Amino acid sequence: MYATQLLIGDQWVDSSDGGTNETFNPANGELIGFFAEATTADVDAAVAAARAGFESDAWQSMSPDAKGRLLWRIADLIDRNAVELAALETLDQGQPTTVSTAISVPLAAQVFRYYAGYATKLEGKLSPVSIPRQLTYQRRTPLGVCGLITPWNFPLDIAAWKLAPALATGNAVILKPAEQTPLSTVRLVEICREAGVPNGVVNLITGGPQVGKALVGHRGVDCISFTGSTAVGQEIARTSATDLKRIGLELGGKAPSIICADADIDAAVQGNLKGALFNTGQACGAFTRFFVPRSKVDEFTSKISAAADALKIGHGYDPETILGPLVSEEHLNRVASYVASGKEQGAQLVSGGERVGGELQNGYFFRPTVFTEVTDKMKIAREEIFGPVLSIMPYDDIDEAITRANSTDYGLVAAIWTKDLVTAHSLPQRIKAGTVFVNQLPLIDPGAPWGGVGLSGLGRELGSYSIDEFTEPQSVFINLD
Ligand code: NAD
Repeated sequence: MYATQLLIGDQWVDSSDGGTNETFNPANGELIGFFAEATTADVDAAVAAARAGFESDAWQSMSPDAKGRLLWRIADLIDRNAVELAALETLDQGQPTTVSTAISVPLAAQVFRYYAGYATKLEGKLSPVSIPRQLTYQRRTPLGVCGLITPWNFPLDIAAWKLAPALATGNAVILKPAEQTPLSTVRLVEICREAGVPNGVVNLITGGPQVGKALVGHRGVDCISFTGSTAVGQEIARTSATDLKRIGLELGGKAPSIICADADIDAAVQGNLKGALFNTGQACGAFTRFFVPRSKVDEFTSKISAAADALKIGHGYDPETILGPLVSEEHLNRVASYVASGKEQGAQLVSGGERVGGELQNGYFFRPTVFTEVTDKMKIAREEIFGPVLSIMPYDDIDEAITRANSTDYGLVAAIWTKDLVTAHSLPQRIKAGTVFVNQLPLIDPGAPWGGVGLSGLGRELGSYSIDEFTEPQSVFINLD
């Protein structure tokens, strides 16, 4: 049984009122641990500790080279503890080991190495101003104390995407993982300590929405980098308006996948299956709305539903498992209610549509579900489900498909399937999305920005964009007279 604490400054402590919360294994519903439920006083203490860490000589005077090596050590320790970290992600989140071992943990280490390189390359620039005899230059300055609030679907990776660039640019942070999945983040913070992060530079508070709220509303926090639902992102934007703190919001998605008339249908079926069902559809970039030429709908539907039905559902520890559980009973009920609404609103259920019983009945397993004849106004076509539900939407011509693909409040990712080079290069320009994948799964790489437009968020993470997100330019004018 796990029992985790808060990290405030250099101390691992219980919540100030002794409060705890519980975390469960979604594969069988069993209690696996307790974590400290932070109070407002704990949030205050974490902010004060982060401010002291930010201003400390140990951090302020750490050379870029030393900072780079610190991030590299964190990456090495992630690799060294890979088996344990992957096991924690599978236990707490439910991720199949094929995801946690092969993707989540190596990607977290890769992100730290990527930003280790940035620590020595935070260059400014000279500005050619027209005022006589001036030397004017810009330098990048860290923001100060950054609150990093993460969701439950990829806890380790999303913490790494925020933490690595925040540290490379010289900020101090307070991490706040999701209440459903705190364990891998607690371990990551232990690793940061082991790697030699100075006291107060990385702090950890755990707990539910109230803890996130207290962090967002705190006047001592300079920046909130948030990944999570659109509704909470909107609330953060409203709250942050009071002190105009810097915010970055990575929110929900409802990705369209347009299968062009010339596409290789078998390749599109395989790619879309993986794009839709990666981590059991609990991925913000999951493909969810499949625009298929009317003449190809029957073939696409029968092939993708047969392939979905054949996927092995099971506990994440089983190396054969492709589809693990949903994260919680609450989330399973949410997915089931979307499936019920699809049926009520007239979509044709082709396969799936129910919770898995038998020996998996205690876990939160849901069969991959394929609907066809889905129309644009149905709830399952408009709202983010965040589960294994695929909606097939027939179209008659490509202009119509693009208009319908764009008629969403979201704009995180989109996919296009075509064999034609001109289509591959010209359609992405017509799609409203932060990232467009052509004949490709929704992949993530530290070198490419990630983020959305519309209700999918504000700002970009990864690549050089995270360096902009975590720094402020400062101009200096020197009078040379
Ligand atoms: P959520 O918004 O419910 O919670 C996310 C985090 O915010 C948790 O740590 C939670 O405790 C905290 N929180 C909740 N209410 C808060 C409040 N009022 N103020 C401050 N913090 C608060 O999201 P979730 O259910 O954990 O995650 C699923 C959502 O995350 C989906 O919508 C998904 O699309 C989105 N997501 C987006 C991306 C992306 O990069 N765009 C990546 C992963 C997940």
